[in-house]
Order: sequence, then C-alpha cells, then structure tokens
Amino acid sequence: MSKFNAAIPRRVYYSDQVTDPERCPECGKPLERDHQTYLLEIRNVAGDIESFLTSIAAGAFCASCPVVVLARDKVESIVQHAGERFLPGKQRLEFVVLGLVDLDAIPPEKRDISLGDDDNPIPLVRFLPDLAHHPPKRSGPNIPKHKKRKGWV
Ligand SMILES: [Zn+2]
Repeated sequence: MSKFNAAIPRRVYYSDQVTDPERCPECGKPLERDHQTYLLEIRNVAGDIESFLTSIAAGAFCASCPVVVLARDKVESIVQHAGERFLPGKQRLEFVVLGLVDLDAIPPEKRDISLGDDDNPIPLVRFLPDLAHHPPKRSGPNIPKHKKRKGWV
C-alpha cells in the first residue's frame, strides 16, 4: 500500500540534484520513502521511444510540500532492465519519469482490464514544472501564429 496520495501533482528532484536526499529540498523536513507506481519513457539514439509502468520504492516524499525525491540509482536500474526488454541494443538510453500513476482513480470494474488500453487509460499525474528551469514566457507579438506543436518528448 502507498502512504502518499498519488493524485497530488508533485515536483520531482533526483537524489544527485539535492544536497541531502533524506530531506525535502523545499522545506528541509525529513522525507519518507514510499512505494508508488510511475510512468516512464525511454528513448534510444535512433529515436525509438517506449513507455512503461513500474511500481518501486524509489521515491522519498515530503508530508508538507508537493515534492518527491527519486533515488537516481534505483530509477536507472529500472531503466536498464526496461531497455533490455523493450529497446535491446548497446545504445545509451535517455529516460524521463513522466509522473505518478494514481491507481486509486481506476474504477473497480476496470481493474481487470490491462492498464493503458483504450477503454482504461493510465491515470497519469504529471510532475509539476521544475522551479529552477522556467520555460521562456510566451507573450505578445513574438509568438508564431500558426505554429503547431508536434508532441512531447
Ligand atoms: Zn517539504
């Protein structure tokens, strides 16, 4: 069972980005490790992308802030296993953890259907934007008017 509510959008940090991975990088309180389900995406140099779900205890959560600190070594080991299975080859893989999966949001009658099917979409709760890397503000006349976005990485 998971202790923290997966439905709350959180900011993600990696253990090697914070000075003390046992403490919240935003308020300094001790973090608590929890078992949760995540949606990850991996990509090889050829541009092949696979996404997959994993349930791991790699995240440490703050009881006060919407923050999770992921143990990078644990996530990388999952990425390596997934790569051997889904994108075999000797290439280096890039990965992104997209967010937590709120398993409680799946209606009971759909729990037998495989997650990610058309009639049972993955209840992904995407991470909040990084505080340190604000994207450039889009405003005024600099916006190209009919530009279309071509998906997400
Ligand atoms: Zn905190």
